[in-house]
Amino acid sequence: MKHNITITRNDQYDFVVCGGGPAGFASALSAARQGLKTAVVEQMGCLGGVSTSGGIHVFLGGRKLNEATREHVRVIGGIFDEFTDSLIADGYAVEPNTIDMSFNPFGWYPRMASGIHCDPIGIKTRMEDMLLSAGVRIYYFSTLTDVIMDQSTIESIIVHNKDGFVSLSARCFADCTGDGDLASLCNVPFEKGRKEDGLTTPASVIMVVDNVDGHDLVTYQNEHQSPKLVEIIERLKSEGSWPFLFEIFVSMQLVEKDVFLINTVRQIGVDGTSEMSRSKALTEGRRQNIKLFAIMKQHFPGFANARIRTIYDWIGIRESRRISSVHNIKLSDALNGASYDDCIAATTYNFDLPDPLKPSYDPMMGDAKRPNAKRKHIVIQIPYRSLIPQKVDNLIVAGRCIGCDREVLGPVRIMGPCMQMGQAAGTAAALFSTTKSFKTVDTDVLRKRLWDAHVINPLTLPFD
Ligand SMILES: Cc1cc2nc3c(=O)[nH]c(=O)nc-3n(C[C@H](O)[C@H](O)[C@H](O)COP(=O)(O)OP(=O)(O)OC[C@H]3O[C@@H](n4cnc5c(N)ncnc54)[C@H](O)[C@@H]3O)c2cc1C
Repeated sequence: MKHNITITRNDQYDFVVCGGGPAGFASALSAARQGLKTAVVEQMGCLGGVSTSGGIHVFLGGRKLNEATREHVRVIGGIFDEFTDSLIADGYAVEPNTIDMSFNPFGWYPRMASGIHCDPIGIKTRMEDMLLSAGVRIYYFSTLTDVIMDQSTIESIIVHNKDGFVSLSARCFADCTGDGDLASLCNVPFEKGRKEDGLTTPASVIMVVDNVDGHDLVTYQNEHQSPKLVEIIERLKSEGSWPFLFEIFVSMQLVEKDVFLINTVRQIGVDGTSEMSRSKALTEGRRQNIKLFAIMKQHFPGFANARIRTIYDWIGIRESRRISSVHNIKLSDALNGASYDDCIAATTYNFDLPDPLKPSYDPMMGDAKRPNAKRKHIVIQIPYRSLIPQKVDNLIVAGRCIGCDREVLGPVRIMGPCMQMGQAAGTAAALFSTTKSFKTVDTDVLRKRLWDAHVINPLTLPFD
């Protein structure tokens, strides 16, 4: 069979980042600021990944509630703080310490108030401005399709866009696709899903509704101590009027008053690395949101006059490939607070990974048998080694697809730590010129650079 695939152009860079989500953004920005000619390849038409294209505008993991002072203290730093502080200053995000915790529409729980609630327009325009002013070339509507290797070195990647098949060469590359697409093309071994059956945690399609009476909703949640409206859902179920597998309602106000993000529908059995599975899940997710909205209007406090503002054209994948890295973070390491001499990021978040078949049940949290209760240390360190894939010399991975046990994904996959890993990856790329492999980057020098850039926060990461 004859085909038409020819490479139309070869563009050359020092560093190419695949994926412009939280990890890819921070990775490209830090590398470009350290003088690397840098490009980002992004299949969508904006930066931000799940935070924009996927509709989740709450950046968790950058602040943590101090129970004694009731202050949301900073536990990350660097680009995360610079980015979110600039959004807060311009009214595109809410400063957590201004949220009234006794009447909190931003997800009700204190841990949700610790997130930085951002406006999606603010996220995508600010990320773009920051990358462009650092000199990064952004390739939108460009999908990574292939890789050209010389033994264990990537020579170039092939992306597809309106120009046809374009080759991008670089000294080194970052995989920030969330799904580990580049690592997978390089034949890096990976794990996906549960050991016993490969099933992954449910996926979600996000809906935003406006004209909500947020006061009525939060009053009800407060009076019934019921953030997820479970008793209403139980009643509807017993009456046969709840057609879903999930049994909780998750909502949070956006920056704009009375506009709520609904992160409720959950599809099981989705494979985030399969087109067919993603397409089916997106179709089902849209339909479920329409059905859910009708129920919300009729039965949930505050939604009688609400309208659907948008249902995102994106299937929110919480879990797919986890690469085999030089050192995968083990669940036992995470529970015991293992410390690494090459730690470059940290997370203080929960073991939040709902059961693949029971979408409302989170086996990682809650009762005494589950990891959250066994946790001996609040800080989980992320070592540099977990970003370094086996088999390839000039590839680094940051974000959701790093090397870790599946249970550890819960705390590491949120956006704060993803940005912190991204900044570390971009900084490592700047050190790559002195070595031939990411494996031999001097991690003392790397950590010193991250310390100087305030990425290493002394509250969560040790630094002598
Ligand atoms: C439903 C849901 C709810 C969540 N809730 C929260 C929350 O409230 N707060 C929080 O902090 N985190 C939350 N998370 C987790 C968090 O959003 C993600 O884990 C995080 O965004 C991962 O960052 P990343 O940069 O690794 O990947 P992503 O955000 O997924 O970004 C990857 C980027 O790569 C691009 N890409 C992928 N493949 C290719 C390719 N082949 N070619 C070109 N481009 C490609 C994508 O378009 C995307 O822009 C949630 C996740 C989901 C799915």
